[in-house]
Amino acid sequence: MKFILRQLELPLDYNDEDLPAAAARRLKCDVEEIIHVELVKRSIDARPRRPAPLFIAAVKLEMAARFRLPSWLKKDIEELSDELGSAESPVKPALKSGDPRPVVVGAGPAGLMAAWHLAMAGLKPILIERGDRADRRKPVVDNFWRTGAFAPENNALYGEGGAGLFSDGKLTARSKDRPRIRTFFETLVRCGAPRDILIDAEPHLGSDVLLEVVASMRQLIEANGGETLYNTALTDLICENGAIIGIKCGDKELSCNRLILATGHSARDVYRLLQNKCASLESKPLAVGIRLEAPQAQINMSQYGRFAGHPRLKAASYRVTRRPENNARACYSFCMCPGGLVICCASEHGALTTNGMSYSGRDSIWGNAAFIVPVEPGDFADPAFAASGKELAGMLFQEKIEKAAFTATGGDFVVPALMLADFLADKVSASLPANRSCPRSKPASFDNILPDFVTRTLRQSIPPMLRELGSINIADCIVYAAETRSSSSVRILRDDSGQSPTLRGLFPTGEGAGYAGGIVSSAVDGLKAAEQLIESLC
Ligand SMILES: Cc1cc2nc3c(=O)[nH]c(=O)nc-3n(C[C@H](O)[C@H](O)[C@H](O)COP(=O)(O)OP(=O)(O)OC[C@H]3O[C@@H](n4cnc5c(N)ncnc54)[C@H](O)[C@@H]3O)c2cc1C
Repeated sequence: MKFILRQLELPLDYNDEDLPAAAARRLKCDVEEIIHVELVKRSIDARPRRPAPLFIAAVKLEMAARFRLPSWLKKDIEELSDELGSAESPVKPALKSGDPRPVVVGAGPAGLMAAWHLAMAGLKPILIERGDRADRRKPVVDNFWRTGAFAPENNALYGEGGAGLFSDGKLTARSKDRPRIRTFFETLVRCGAPRDILIDAEPHLGSDVLLEVVASMRQLIEANGGETLYNTALTDLICENGAIIGIKCGDKELSCNRLILATGHSARDVYRLLQNKCASLESKPLAVGIRLEAPQAQINMSQYGRFAGHPRLKAASYRVTRRPENNARACYSFCMCPGGLVICCASEHGALTTNGMSYSGRDSIWGNAAFIVPVEPGDFADPAFAASGKELAGMLFQEKIEKAAFTATGGDFVVPALMLADFLADKVSASLPANRSCPRSKPASFDNILPDFVTRTLRQSIPPMLRELGSINIADCIVYAAETRSSSSVRILRDDSGQSPTLRGLFPTGEGAGYAGGIVSSAVDGLKAAEQLIESLC
């Protein structure tokens, strides 16, 4: 008999050897009746009513024939289905003779996963990335954060690993596509990620681990016949009769009739190129706001209460939302980075945006999260935003904020920052604490950066949201502006075959296509695009 047992309590310092005894206690059976036990999920429960924080786990069990399942346990039992299985291994189609190799553009989570799948299917994909390899990209980005020296093709958003490289590396996703998520996680583990990501309810890697994992993914793609071209930007699409027949990368031309476009949502030149080539695009809602940094000790206290500081508890995270009220829109926290750093993200000169990253230890004394306000297409109705066509109006709206953030501090990629109390009181801070996670930041008013409805909503919403969390002192918090790229402002339309309805052979995928947001959903979308490309060959 095989099943999954949920709600199994385990101490935070359990070992794998403790699992049979813990399961037997819960099942009220002899340990000998358990043939095999395997942990499949675990999350921390640190609610104060518990005498101590513990893991709530799910285990997969194989039981001896004599075992009888107690009827009172049935609600915590799940029949074994294939939901925990990974996606099927790729079918291996053959390219027709003379057919060009498939091309994947963009080596972020979506492009890497797509290229990996195509390589495993024996299709020898060519992966093109405008930035450099992750190991060569890192020193350039570190130097940017230290000095503001900006490299247009090698920055926090461009280069191998994509926007996901210098990220918090949380691997949470709302996607229900469990088999593809499993395939992605297993690929990460195969490339050096800790096995814990397969079982943790809130898996996390951190930028240092991602750097190693991305390098191994590249090696896996290359070892299976894929080719990677760095410092190579897609600059044009060659089309005939509504289909792709080739691409240009500067003065290089490449024949190609199947292209997975995984260029992320920062590559505005790519959206403009697609618009010129009549790919179907539409504007989509987005959200903008600020990044709020608070002492991690206070965040831990708000989440763990009397257990805060417990040596086995990791840096805590939070999520808060606020409904619209009194002339304020909805507001929500987003992309929380416990024990992380606020970073300046820029992918073009003259514009800056904020985000948060962390290392695997999540051991910074600060935690940060974006607090963002939804923006609807009606907000881009101003003709100035529709100058490049209404599909790109949201992108111009984001760009305007980013340019204002850049100039607010003198145009040297210094992030505008304020003490939260000053922002709430509509004042510009006289100074900032020397000890903050983003040292290249300085006081500047956010009122010249963000639209009125955003600052008004934030001022009205943040105090009650922090009160709801408890333990976080407004006086100790710093806010940074502006958070603009929480999601894509453009959707590249695709049909059931995954292709652009107006540019056959183009498979838009990942966050930039507007169907995914975050590392996991983008990687899963990239995997699906590769499967659809393979289907188009079969
Ligand atoms: C600082 C930061 C922290 C984040 N933290 C998290 C997190 O903790 N968890 C999470 O789930 N998500 C996080 N995100 C979001 C996540 O990184 C993205 O959702 C994800 O990377 C999107 O994947 P993608 O492959 O679709 O696009 P991207 O990662 O943006 O990759 C696109 C790639 O395409 C390349 N490219 C663009 N144009 C061209 C061109 N013309 N020619 C060739 N190459 C091109 C780019 O250089 C880039 O490498 C974070 C993002 C940032 C910026």
